Parts: sequence; C-alpha cells; structure tokens
Amino acid sequence: MKRRIRNKILRLSLIASTLFFLIKPVYAQIDASILRRHVQKLSGDEMEGRGTGEPGEAEARGYIASEFKRYGLTAYGANNGFLQKFEFRPRNSSNPHAAIDTTQPVRSAYNVIAYLNNSAENTIIIGAHYDHLGLGRQGGSLDPNPEGKIHNGADDNASGTAGLLELARFYRQNKIKEKYNFLFIAFSGEELGLLGSKAFTANPSIDLNKVHLMINMDMIGRLDSARRLMIYGTGTSPVLENLIRNTSHDFQIKTDSSGIGPSDHTSFYLKNIPVLHFFTGSHPDYHKPSDDADKVNYDGQKDVLEYIQRIIEKVEAMPKLAFTATRNNSTASDSPRFKVTLGILPDYAFTGGMRVDGVTDGKPAAVAGLKAGDVIVQIGEHVVFDIQTYMQALSKFTKGETTSVKIKRGEDTLDMKVVF
Ligand SMILES: [Zn+2]
Repeated sequence: MKRRIRNKILRLSLIASTLFFLIKPVYAQIDASILRRHVQKLSGDEMEGRGTGEPGEAEARGYIASEFKRYGLTAYGANNGFLQKFEFRPRNSSNPHAAIDTTQPVRSAYNVIAYLNNSAENTIIIGAHYDHLGLGRQGGSLDPNPEGKIHNGADDNASGTAGLLELARFYRQNKIKEKYNFLFIAFSGEELGLLGSKAFTANPSIDLNKVHLMINMDMIGRLDSARRLMIYGTGTSPVLENLIRNTSHDFQIKTDSSGIGPSDHTSFYLKNIPVLHFFTGSHPDYHKPSDDADKVNYDGQKDVLEYIQRIIEKVEAMPKLAFTATRNNSTASDSPRFKVTLGILPDYAFTGGMRVDGVTDGKPAAVAGLKAGDVIVQIGEHVVFDIQTYMQALSKFTKGETTSVKIKRGEDTLDMKVVF
C-alpha cells in the first residue's frame, strides 16, 4: 500500500514535471497555427499575389512591418523606418524569356528590414522573399494563360516569410541574449531576378563584413512524407556541411555546396558571406495560381524552422565563420576547370535557360552577337536549363573550337555561331 502510494506520487510528479516542461517554453516557441495565420494572410486573394511594385506588395509589406513592430524589433530600413526602397523596370510581357523593357517607366518596390540588437560584434541575417507573381503579368508563371489570375504564392514564398516572422518573434521574445545580433529581411523583387536582395547588398543597413551567416528560406511549406529537405550553400564555409549533418534532425537532407542558387542567398554569397538556403522542394503548383495556403504542411514547416533554430544555436557558439568560394561566379568560365570562356555575366536566378545579364566586349559571346537579355538554351548538343547546366556545357569545349549556341531573344529562337 505504502509503496503504491509512493509510486503514485512519483508518477504524478513525473506527469507534473513533464507538463511543466511542455508548458514552460510555450511563450516563444515556433507555433504552427501562427505560421498558418501568416501564410493565409499573405497568400489571401486581397494580396493579389504580391507582385513586385503592385498594390498587393504594399499590403504585404505593411503586414510584415506591423508584425516586426509588434514584436518590438528595431526598424532597420531607410530613414529609421522598416522599409528600404529600390527601383526597377518591369518586364514587357508574361513571356519569361522577355528582357527587361527599358521603355517601361521605373517603378518602386520595398524590402522590409528589422534588427535585434544583442550588442554583439557580428550579425546573423535571416531572409525570405515576400513577393510573388502578382496577377501573372510580370512573367515567371507556368500557367498557360496567366494574365489576370491571382498567383497566391503560398509556398513561394509566403511560407518562408511566415518562417521569417516566427523566427523574428522567437529571437525577440525568448529572453535570451544571443552572441550575435539578428537582422531580419523580407525581400521584394526576388521573382524578377533577386532585385531586393541585390538592392540590399548594394546598399546595406549593416556592415556586410560583420555578417556571420545569412540564412535564406524560399519555399519551406511543402515538406512531403519522405521529409525531403534541400539545403544550398553548404560549401560556403568549411564548417557548414558537418554542422548541418550533425545537428539533430529527421529529414532526408540533400545538400548543394554552391552559394549560387535560384534565390536571395546568392546576393549575399556574391559579397563573400557564408550562406545556407532551405527549400522543401518543387511541386506541380510551383509558379501557378494553385499554389495555395491549404496545400501547405504547417507542421512540417515548423519542423524545418526548429531545425534552423538548432543550427543557429550551434553557429552561435562559434566564432565568425570563414567564407569559402564554391564557384567562380561571373568569371566561372575562366576558372581552371574551363578551357574556354564566353564572356558573359550570367543571371544566376533565372531558370529555363541561362539568361545573359551582360556581355564583355571582344569575348566570344559579344563577337557572335549575343546581347544582354538573351537566354541561352543550348550550347552545341548540350541543353542548358540553368547556371549549372550552362557551366557543364561550357566545360566540354576547348579553345579554338567552334560551336552553335541556341538562344531565345524575345519571341525568336536564334542560332549563333561561337568561336571559343
Ligand atoms: Zn518563385
């Protein structure tokens, strides 16, 4: 009898301490229902797909700024506000291969930036783009008839933006003074070519030499039953690959060492900052009006964010990370692996070919007649989908060789003869 009572007491105290453990940290943990609320709000029809420079973008940035303010974060955009303005020219049609139209008037878009000052020497940047394809008139849609349709972009990238807000809330409210400051940035213009992150790194509100790590989240809302998680940038600092492998998780992780990829971390990598980019993978609703909030896996998203928190906890215990270049960016074609160069500046964000951002006078591309805005879709017999396949194709040639390069220029497909 006595022993039974003792056991009972023991059991009760065990339950009580478990309950205490469960209840105690709730004040600032990542909350799947809050993630759902953010995603539903940002991908609601009233945001009209958050097209860069459109009224829906204004709605979304107002929402993000008011959340940052509500958490008690410091405004770190321009003029002591949360916003950082940048200018851009829209593309002239929904054709994703269309060049930026220089006859279009310049328009404005805004990043939303908040700071958590922990009086530390260095800073961790956490970012996610909040813009999407709007009403399908800015290009990039995979709908055969996109114009006028709201592209809600729940996964791309209301999910990353919701994650950004939850991490911002967590680090502000967890009552722990971390060893690094935090800068939280919601980028606009990502879908038009990383415009917001390029604008920030060109005109940063903190010293970019004092950035420990940049963490980017773009599409973290579709964790599937196989729990596949892609992490890019693991080669941008010597410690990162081991660090992410050794941080407890139950994902099927696929890493890519490159700091160059199809999202905003690329802009930071190009400033010699170690980066990690998180992505739960593509799906049939990608860049279609059907990328909706009811298809987002909020519990999975919470798991991804908690994994990111555990990674941050580890990097926080480390001194400022060393940077490693993973790929020779704009001079990729001049690196030792390549015997030839085309002499172009690639648009790293573009997929569906390799879009040329600029050509160098006197180099093979310029001599052949390639121009900024051209999209290379084939070199010789090698089909080009993106920067990786472009570089693979290029590595097959030797100096003096002649080949044909297939490009898209506006509506036209042209074959250019290139001499390396
Ligand atoms: Zn996208």
